[in-house]
Amino acid sequence: MTVSVDYPREFKGFAITDPKDWDQPKLTSYEPKKFGEHDIDIEVECCGICASELFSLKNEWSNAPLACLSSSYGPKSQVVGHEVIGKVVKVGEKVTLAKLGQRVGLGAQASSCMQCGRCSSNNEQYCLKSVGTYCSRYPDGYVSQGGYASHVRAHEQFCFPIPDDVPSAFVAPLMCGGLTVYSPIKRNIEGVEKPKVGIIGIGGLGHMAIMIAKALGAEVTAFSRSNKKKDDAIKMGAQYFVATGEEENWSSRLADNFHLVLNCASSTTSLDLNAFVSILKVNCQLVSVGLPEKGETFDLSPFTFIRNGCSMGVSKLGSRQEAIELLDLASKHSFQPWVETIDVSEDGVHEGLTRLDRGDVRYRFTLVGFNKFFGT
Ligand code: NDP
Ligand code: ZN
Repeated sequence: MTVSVDYPREFKGFAITDPKDWDQPKLTSYEPKKFGEHDIDIEVECCGICASELFSLKNEWSNAPLACLSSSYGPKSQVVGHEVIGKVVKVGEKVTLAKLGQRVGLGAQASSCMQCGRCSSNNEQYCLKSVGTYCSRYPDGYVSQGGYASHVRAHEQFCFPIPDDVPSAFVAPLMCGGLTVYSPIKRNIEGVEKPKVGIIGIGGLGHMAIMIAKALGAEVTAFSRSNKKKDDAIKMGAQYFVATGEEENWSSRLADNFHLVLNCASSTTSLDLNAFVSILKVNCQLVSVGLPEKGETFDLSPFTFIRNGCSMGVSKLGSRQEAIELLDLASKHSFQPWVETIDVSEDGVHEGLTRLDRGDVRYRFTLVGFNKFFGT
């Protein structure tokens, strides 16, 4: 049986209809996706701002127009937001993973087939039928609408229980950014004795990666373009800091050092990836979670890899199991993302997006005050 409390049939959120207006989402009402038997409706309490939303709103990852504009059904506008914390206000009749009234978190994935080999081996983020929390098409044509909103609807698998002791605004960024870096760090250093991890790009994801790698027992080196973030990175838990734009020959100094180098930078324009491969130990990995705009590529020579037998890959989000492990790790090691809160409103969303766009954030924004704004 579907259970719910009373709330509006239509959701309200901050939406755009044209990428040229990416920084000015307007308050809009819209019909949510059809409610499935495993779905949950979340009344949003707060939502982090991730750089992926800038790429999506500006439509910088795609050559096609915004998906919502050509959808056969559903809103013709786009709400983003995928680091959601909120309260469960409706559960589908087959839901077993959450209860009405419970505090849950939702990241960048809202659905998958739940039947394939990937879904049944804790790799549901790679399900071929995966649907993202925003800008992503369900099989019936509806384009998903994210969490800068009064409510958001998602499959129960992607709604994670939040431990009582963590404040919502500080746990929100773990839902996408934190999980995205936790997964490749854990998968690459598990079982390694005294792992050494390098983190490139100390922004939202990168600063969480420092704390997470440290909590997982790694010696962490932070790589940033300049020395401006050095003191912060050390406070976050990095043992060493390298300003790649200010130190010559850093890669020869650090050759044959790292078990994992994780790229969290949002652009490759000032990244020397060949240098980052050269600092890996034999057969180790350079993993990128950073996803630059569509014109940018990874510029790497085969001769770089032949020197240490290393490889490079890209990692996407994380699984439910990893999200739960991460929340547990954060609670045990008492680490929290460095968060600046902004009250949600059209102006607040504008401020968060534009400041993130110019790199003016230390180190993650969380939009707060949703219940007050939406009267929920
Ligand atoms: P932020 O803007 O918070 O941080 C990005 C960091 O990248 C900056 O702080 C900066 O670090 C570095 N950077 C910025 N411009 C350049 C440049 N031109 N050359 C080299 N480095 C640069 O972004 P987020 O942390 O929110 O997101 C990071 C990336 O991760 C984005 O591409 C985002 O889309 C992607 N992402 C991927 C996911 C996945 O599943 N793979 C999930 C979520 C996000 P510094 O100043 O230290 O050099
Ligand atoms: Zn994200």
